[in-house]
Amino acid sequence: MRAQRRKKSSSSAALPGFEDVVNEYAPENAICKIRVLFPLPLPEAFDYAAPSDWGLQAGDHVLAPLGSRHVQGVVWAVEEGALGASNLRSVLEKLNAAPLDAVTRRFIEWAAKYVVTPPGLILKMVLRSPQALAPSPTFAVYKASAQTTAAITPQRLRVLEEAARAPDSPARLAQRAGVSAGVVKALIDAAALTRIDVDEDQPYAAPNPDPVRARALSPDQHAAAQALIEALEKKSFEPVLLDGVTGSGKTEVYLEAIAAVLAASPTGQVLVLLPEIALTQAVMARFVDRFAALPVEWHSAIAPKERRRAWREVHQGRARLIVGARSALFLPFADLRLIIVDEEHDPSYKQDEGVIYQARDLAVARAKLNDAAIVLASATPSLETLVNATAGRYRHVKLFARHGAAVLPDVELIDLKIDAPDKGRWLSPKLVTAVAEACARGEQALLYMNRRGYAPLTLCRACGHRMQSPETQSWLVEHKYSGKLVCHLTGFSMPKPKACPNCLTPDSFVAVGPGVERVEEEARDLFPHARIEVFSSDTAHSGEDVRAIVARMAAGEIDILIGTQIVAKGHNFPLLTVVGVVDADLGLKGGDLRAGERTYQLLSQVSGRAGRADKPGRALIQTYAPEHEAMIALANGDRDGFLAAEAAAREAMGMPPYGRLAAVIISAPSEVQANSAAIEMGEGAPIAEGVDVWGPAPAPLAVIRGQHRRRFLVRADRSVDLSAFMAAWKARVRLSSAVRLQIDIEPYSFL
Ligand code: ADP
Repeated sequence: MRAQRRKKSSSSAALPGFEDVVNEYAPENAICKIRVLFPLPLPEAFDYAAPSDWGLQAGDHVLAPLGSRHVQGVVWAVEEGALGASNLRSVLEKLNAAPLDAVTRRFIEWAAKYVVTPPGLILKMVLRSPQALAPSPTFAVYKASAQTTAAITPQRLRVLEEAARAPDSPARLAQRAGVSAGVVKALIDAAALTRIDVDEDQPYAAPNPDPVRARALSPDQHAAAQALIEALEKKSFEPVLLDGVTGSGKTEVYLEAIAAVLAASPTGQVLVLLPEIALTQAVMARFVDRFAALPVEWHSAIAPKERRRAWREVHQGRARLIVGARSALFLPFADLRLIIVDEEHDPSYKQDEGVIYQARDLAVARAKLNDAAIVLASATPSLETLVNATAGRYRHVKLFARHGAAVLPDVELIDLKIDAPDKGRWLSPKLVTAVAEACARGEQALLYMNRRGYAPLTLCRACGHRMQSPETQSWLVEHKYSGKLVCHLTGFSMPKPKACPNCLTPDSFVAVGPGVERVEEEARDLFPHARIEVFSSDTAHSGEDVRAIVARMAAGEIDILIGTQIVAKGHNFPLLTVVGVVDADLGLKGGDLRAGERTYQLLSQVSGRAGRADKPGRALIQTYAPEHEAMIALANGDRDGFLAAEAAAREAMGMPPYGRLAAVIISAPSEVQANSAAIEMGEGAPIAEGVDVWGPAPAPLAVIRGQHRRRFLVRADRSVDLSAFMAAWKARVRLSSAVRLQIDIEPYSFL
């Protein structure tokens, strides 16, 4: 990768200073000033000197001294004209790697400013596969030489025949010919076999947008697809909300927009963002059906080698269709023309750790910078997106009905105060009857319980002691399969003790409340002959596991599936006719800004799993709060009425999307440090019109892994540049290095 090396020594002990460089190049070689951004949490790009005749341009990769280290960075700016005497340190090398394009660089700057984080951290996310900057590694294979003077034995002949059929590595040739490695080596030594170096990272198969592979669209779907294609061709930027109930064919519609991009130019790229890796496989299969090639996959579970290949191919513009999780947004696209954000309302687009960002929002910004089109698809759009559509900032494309004969399920509320389950049970008689009827008809039921494990609280019957996580002070959740008590926030786990650690009474624990494992126990008891499986991140660890469970369910090999929110999304189960929501109120607790909205979205997605094919479905929702607006709207199928009421309430409070929110989270190793940092931060808060700063207050999760946490919540009018306000605030306060300060623009979690 290193092309130009203009200095005498690269050891950090003998780094050349500016004088050395001037001496080496003076007088005929001019020196220019450049700025270099490093993929590190530094506040900005740093100035360096570099020889003008290297012809460095913004985007080039260089090696530069930083403290006592040599670090790779990206040239961020090149100053015009020669540099006079200065004591800038000089860049060490220009690296032989394709430069980072201007739009990606602008996106890095924009995103860093928006989420109030050092730009180097966004650059780090972009340069996720540093090996991809170098050309692909190669491996050697051998073909039969055109001519040879080597003596040909029968064994050697077999090797030469195999090599003529298909060049291969020496070991594989020996294996294929059934000879020892020595025979192949002798042929190589005698030049009877010729070496060919093959790239390890091969280009991807090109997707084929040929319309013959497309499904015939219904008139509604066709109109929607045309609207998307118009948005692609339009010169002005206009995001599209593709809004249609589950099963209305949103995927079919956006496949046609993708086909239009692929057909319009030989270089155009499309990015499809999905909220969960678990969803990728089913969607990938549909892409393969439509485009006769596997899209390029990008998410955290990709192996490093495949990551390197994908990154390079996207950067070079050879990868045309990329399907990925939120991190795919940071790929260095060569010619990005269209972004699809599927299930745009999904909370997993929000990254809450490290660099905190909302991928859907950054996707809109990225599309704008790239002059690309963007489609946000959902059956239950977020209030943010819906308000943008209603206000005319986004184009609103609707699909009203399920495709074909499929109809939306009937949704019934079960009031647990009236139709109560027996003591120690969680399924009401009504729900049990509905499940039994589905099983009797040879159909399937899904019981939705959005909590992993057996029971959320383990209590000592003798002294009332509650088992708490030592890291977070939250309750430990019992997991029966593993025999452990687990903290769902941090992953901390411990074996379930045999006796209460407080009063030492043996076997005194009682399980309080249900998780999926407990619902499974009850279902097995009620339906001993049914084939029952649990679908949660504990039973489906890998993409392979997820695929297998989904396939078994789709093939009718499961009668009752019990699952967490992993089941809510995107899966198509033709035989599923009854969905039971065991505890619909779970998501309403906690007073979160979006609690109602999220509960509505999730339960409506889960209910939407029922009756996808030509069998009508039923969703039964167990709740203690049948009067809650979200429950009433679910029962009446009145999404828009619910969202209008929700919007009015948010508007009255000046809350998003009518106002802006940001959070400040302070973490410190001791309570005293956390308090004094919070006070200092509070005193440093700038005063600005249209901005309210609330706090500091102990975070609801006041301690995580020994870190004491304090929070501020900031509300601002829409007209306020809240990111700039937060950056100014951050710059005014110098906290001790033991204290961690996080800023969360548009927070989704308030814990
Ligand atoms: P959504 O993305 O809105 O949930 P999908 O695109 O997944 O909807 O469509 C739901 C189901 O209906 C899928 O199995 C899909 O293949 C099928 N479908 C939708 N539109 C058509 C069509 N025009 N022709 C044939 N099948 C279709």
